[in-house]
Amino acid sequence: MSEFIPLSVPSIKGNEWKYVKECIDTEWVSSAGKYVDQFEKDICRLSGAGYAIACVNGTAALQIALQLVGVTSDDEVIVPTITFIASVNAISYLNAKPVFMDCDDFYNIDVEKTIDFIRKETIYKNGFTFNKKTGKRIAAVIIVHVFGNPVNVVYLLDLCRARNLSIVEDAAESIGTYYTAGDLSSRHTGTIGDVGCYSFNGNKIITCGGGGMIVTNNRDYAERAKYLTTQAKDDPVRYIHHEIGYNFRLTNVQAALGVAQLESLQDYIIVKKKNYEYYKLNIDSIPGLYLANVPEYGHSNYWFYCLRINPDGYGKNREELMKYFSEHKIQTRPIWYLNHLQQPYKNAQSYRIEYAYKLYDRTLNIPCSVNITQAQLDTVIKVLKNGSKK
Ligand SMILES: *Cc1c(COP(=O)(O)O)cnc(C)c1O
Repeated sequence: MSEFIPLSVPSIKGNEWKYVKECIDTEWVSSAGKYVDQFEKDICRLSGAGYAIACVNGTAALQIALQLVGVTSDDEVIVPTITFIASVNAISYLNAKPVFMDCDDFYNIDVEKTIDFIRKETIYKNGFTFNKKTGKRIAAVIIVHVFGNPVNVVYLLDLCRARNLSIVEDAAESIGTYYTAGDLSSRHTGTIGDVGCYSFNGNKIITCGGGGMIVTNNRDYAERAKYLTTQAKDDPVRYIHHEIGYNFRLTNVQAALGVAQLESLQDYIIVKKKNYEYYKLNIDSIPGLYLANVPEYGHSNYWFYCLRINPDGYGKNREELMKYFSEHKIQTRPIWYLNHLQQPYKNAQSYRIEYAYKLYDRTLNIPCSVNITQAQLDTVIKVLKNGSKK
């Protein structure tokens, strides 16, 4: 029998052990130490961001990012329905409310519809944007670079600036992704808006086990991010706190893993791209199937691969194909259930969501680990070819 092929597992082959061992040997294991500083510096160097603040995970980074740009209770925040639910929960942690948007062909927020919503469904008054329907202030837009694909955000930037809407980038999945066209050329995802967030969870392209990073070019935001993530210490010796802070700091051990993983990132992206192209070449010729495209205006980190299924053409729908894969010990997954339909959010406002339903029904994420072997890629393709009813 063939072996199990997982969807996405970490690849740990570089200096991870050496750096972590050093933390333990020197007893610098907690939230101070050279690797935390090093990791922040390395992320700045990679992304081009002015400042980076290490954080316990990507979800916490998002919560702080929203707080930095001034989201408070009763505000609203625009967010896509297709994303991991953490992007939306971060809004709820601040007692603010999401307004859900549709997606484009790259699973990213539909920028045209978002512009439409802002133009038609909001008014600008006293320096702020208000939702016509609810009367509430809309404080920010979260753009999520889903599966590593850069959001086509350039058209949204001027409007958001004119309407005093902050842009928070959930770049949890897109470390290493950058734009290649137009005004944003060579700029990394995470550094376009007011604040960006990365995640180093175990399923991401590189991992600290758990971890996150806030990036920004705004010095005040950076200082405040550090303050809020380290218990808001106004006088650390006498324990004076003027605000409610959080224990959101990354530990040195986690950062040591992150520093080592980051050394491998460019190699990982090359492997991911090569495997994407191999899959695409072989899958696109199977009737009723193709591998979703990546945007031409950017260079993706190719984190996740999206298999698109036309059930009539292929002879199996998404559920049937997932079951069939699992019978062959291949792990696949549908994309996240649409957030505007989730129990906690089903009463929230959503705007003209249409395409997201179709993509949800027709997509499976297929195995994409950096260390997937050529034989495993061929197995996935063979199973797909044999699974066709035609
Ligand atoms: C992984 C992920 C997060 C959360 O990051 P954690 O480090 O797991 O807290 C947020 N948003 C998106 C889009 C993600 O993929």
